[in-house]
Amino acid sequence: MENCLFCKIIAGDIPSAKVYEDEFCYAFRDINPQAPTHILVVPKQHVASIAEISALPADTLCALMGAIGKIAAQEGLSNGFRVVSNCGPDACQSVPHLHFHILGGRQMADQMA
Ligand code: 5GP
Ligand code: ZN
Repeated sequence: MENCLFCKIIAGDIPSAKVYEDEFCYAFRDINPQAPTHILVVPKQHVASIAEISALPADTLCALMGAIGKIAAQEGLSNGFRVVSNCGPDACQSVPHLHFHILGGRQMADQMA
């Protein structure tokens, strides 16, 4: 997808701090971390948000969900972590390429928002 920030990051046209990659997904450190560990996991195939996730093939979905646990283990988040996917204006989604935030390394608030 042209002019998509995360497609450019996946392609290597914009540098990122990669933490994980496989055939279907890519993960990198958030540029503005909200926790000691803050990683974004994205499908290599462009979809705008979780509202369109059913457009992704099953193997991509499986890889995305599997990557979250692998990355959490790789990052040593044995005490837990939070996964967030903002969707659309009400959730303040700022980059319209589906991504899951992995947040960890500190105690999270006990409310979602
Ligand atoms: P959203 O607000 O859409 O849920 O999350 C987008 C995230 O992308 C934000 O947490 C923001 O800090 C991160 N971000 C925006 N631009 C860049 C960038 O160029 N590089 C990296 N690594 N993260 C970015
Ligand atoms: Zn994209």
